[in-house]
Amino acid sequence: MLTKQTYIVFLGPPGSGKGTQARILQKVVGLPHVATGDLFRHNISQQTELGRLAKRYIDAGELVPDDVTLGMVRDRLQQPDCAAGVIFDGFPRTLEQVVALDELLADRNGVVLALMLDVSDAEVTRRITGRRVCRNCGAVYHIEFNPPKQAGICDVDGGELYQRDDDKPETVRNRLYVYYKQTSPLIGYYFAKGLLVKVDGDAPPDRVTARLLKVLEEHGIKPVMEPSY
Ligand code: AMP
Ligand code: ZN
Repeated sequence: MLTKQTYIVFLGPPGSGKGTQARILQKVVGLPHVATGDLFRHNISQQTELGRLAKRYIDAGELVPDDVTLGMVRDRLQQPDCAAGVIFDGFPRTLEQVVALDELLADRNGVVLALMLDVSDAEVTRRITGRRVCRNCGAVYHIEFNPPKQAGICDVDGGELYQRDDDKPETVRNRLYVYYKQTSPLIGYYFAKGLLVKVDGDAPPDRVTARLLKVLEEHGIKPVMEPSY
C-alpha cells in the first residue's frame, strides 16, 4: 500500500513512450493514468467549451494555455480515484504548471517522482508519424512496430484507426520545438530537487517497463500486480 500520496510525472519528448508506459504502470502500481492530451481529446470529441478552446492549439502543435490546462487538471484530481495519487502523462509541460503542481501537492501531502524517458529526435519522429489510434477505445497502434491484425481496424473492438492531426509530420516538428522550448526546462527543475530519474527510452517497451518498475521499487513504490503488455 502507498502511504503518502504518490504523483508520478513522465517527462520526455512527444513520442518517447510516456503514454504507453503510463498505461502499463497504472495497473501495475494501482494509480490512475491522467493524460492531459487524452482529457483534451475527450473534450474535443464531446464538443465541450473546453474542447473547442483547446482544439486550435492542439491542431497547431502548440500548448493549450496554462490556466485552461490547470483548471482541467484540478477538476480531474478532485475525482475519488485520485485519492492515493496519480500517474501524469503530458503534465506538467511548463514551468508555470510545475509550480502550480507543487502547490497542489503541498496541500495534499504528496510526493512526486519525475521519470524522464530519453529518446532521440529521429526515433520519436518515426514513432509519432506511424502512430494510429482507435476512435472507439483509444487503443494505440504503430504501423511498423505494433500493427493491428487488419490494417486500419482496432483488434479490441473493430473501431476505425486514425492518425491524430498533430501526429502528421508537419506538426511533429513544431511539437518537438515546443517541447525543447517550454517543457525541457522541467528536467532541470526536477533534477535540482533530486526528484529526476532518467531512463533510456530507446529500448523496446517491455524493457523500458522493467527499468521503470525497478526505479519505482527503489523509491518505495511497490507493484500491486504483474505487468501485462
Ligand atoms: P499529448 O497527447 O500529450 O501529446 O498532447 C497532445 C496536445 O495536447 C499537445 O500537443 C498540447 O497541444 C495539448 N496538451 C497536452 N497536455 C498539455 C499540457 N500539460 N499543457 C498544455 N497543453 C497540453
Ligand atoms: Zn478500439
